[in-house]
Amino acid sequence: MKNQRIAIIGAGTAGLATATLLGRQGHDITVIERAKSLTAVGAGILLQPSGVGVLSEIGCLEQMQQFGHRIDALYGWTRSGRVIMQVEYAHLNESRDVFGLGIHRASLCHVLDHVLAAVSHQRWFGCEVDSIQQSAKEAVVSFRRETEVHQEVFDAVLIANGSASQLRPQSLVRYDRQYPWGAMWLIRPLTDNLSSLNKPHLQQRYDGSSIMVGALPTGCTPGDTATPMLSLFWSLPIAAIPQWQAEGFDLAGWKSDVVNLWPELHPVINAIQSPSELLPATYRDVIMSRWGEGRMGIIGDAAHAMSPQLGQGANMALLDASAIARAVEESNDWESVWQKYYAARSGSIRFYQKMSRFLTPLFQSKIVGAGLVRDMALPVSHKLPWVRRQMAETVAGRKQKWI
Ligand SMILES: Cc1cc2nc3c(=O)[nH]c(=O)nc-3n(C[C@H](O)[C@H](O)[C@H](O)COP(=O)(O)OP(=O)(O)OC[C@H]3O[C@@H](n4cnc5c(N)ncnc54)[C@H](O)[C@@H]3O)c2cc1C
Repeated sequence: MKNQRIAIIGAGTAGLATATLLGRQGHDITVIERAKSLTAVGAGILLQPSGVGVLSEIGCLEQMQQFGHRIDALYGWTRSGRVIMQVEYAHLNESRDVFGLGIHRASLCHVLDHVLAAVSHQRWFGCEVDSIQQSAKEAVVSFRRETEVHQEVFDAVLIANGSASQLRPQSLVRYDRQYPWGAMWLIRPLTDNLSSLNKPHLQQRYDGSSIMVGALPTGCTPGDTATPMLSLFWSLPIAAIPQWQAEGFDLAGWKSDVVNLWPELHPVINAIQSPSELLPATYRDVIMSRWGEGRMGIIGDAAHAMSPQLGQGANMALLDASAIARAVEESNDWESVWQKYYAARSGSIRFYQKMSRFLTPLFQSKIVGAGLVRDMALPVSHKLPWVRRQMAETVAGRKQKWI
């Protein structure tokens, strides 16, 4: 498409990556972000091999590797020490090196922003978008900078403002709900006494379907490039989050439960002084019938938020960026962009949304017997080479459909 004036709302994974790819095509890009600057917010996330491929396409993989921690496999054990989850990227049987990256969300955005800085664009930070109006030929973005209200006209707008977006057109939203389970997380230095966690693995411990702890090495952060970090996740129903944050929460009891389940975590858990050191994370499940109409497109979590059970959020956001950039390059009008983007991404997104909805209750629910079914079925599936490979394909973020 000929040079377009495009607003991208949200400077998260989807927004930053898309801004770089479209800016390089020569479009006039404006990134509008409500935060005043990119600060160190968010948890450690797992980027899967398909997302790593997009980083390579953008040209920032080496830089990202300096921050992230290489991940080769995902393992999960029951309280009794039985391996339930065993997904290795080596099961993809590829001759080239295939890996994921554990990375702090701040580092991911820092590197993406650094790459974007080399591309001509405008950035309006500290600007909260309230609404977008569109006509046949343009889109008008209304936003607030402190108390002042502004309006600006663009050829098109890409909505990349995350899972709780109020900007995505409601007429296209088929389903939008908060998951009943979330997590408490914290990030701590990966010290020498945590050697069993300093591996290229995401590790988890389960007890039934209602108890789950996860540990992911996430490399260093922009503020301290010398200290490798570890992200810890404790799963819980969102209804229990206020209790966690209320005065009188039994922190000692929780610490003892976690160390009983996973003794190697003792050095991290023992050092926690207050429940407020762990921060809550909640998730949404959003289904839209299309991800674009008229002069408005939707990308990343705003378009298709899902449970983090398969670790695909940032991954899918990067794949969206690559797909929408290709669609813009190959199209002459915006309707054709939305069609191409939908054709490229809908198979994969529908697969991951269904899979997440199916798997999440096996790991995060109080359904009687769910953990038992999981503990019986998953170890058998690891023994079947075809299933083992499908599981690796799924986690790697490469599936387009069931078979
Ligand atoms: C605890 C936790 C663990 C996770 N684990 C994983 C994992 O293992 N693997 C994985 O791939 N993903 C994981 N995720 C999810 C991942 O972080 C997101 O899915 C991913 O970053 C998608 O990015 P996005 O750009 O779509 O949205 P976001 O990163 O949410 O960015 C949206 C941006 O829009 C801005 N914004 C919002 N509203 C407005 C507005 N009105 N005007 C202007 N700006 C606005 C926000 O400030 C933000 O900067 C995890 C998330 C959490 C919380």
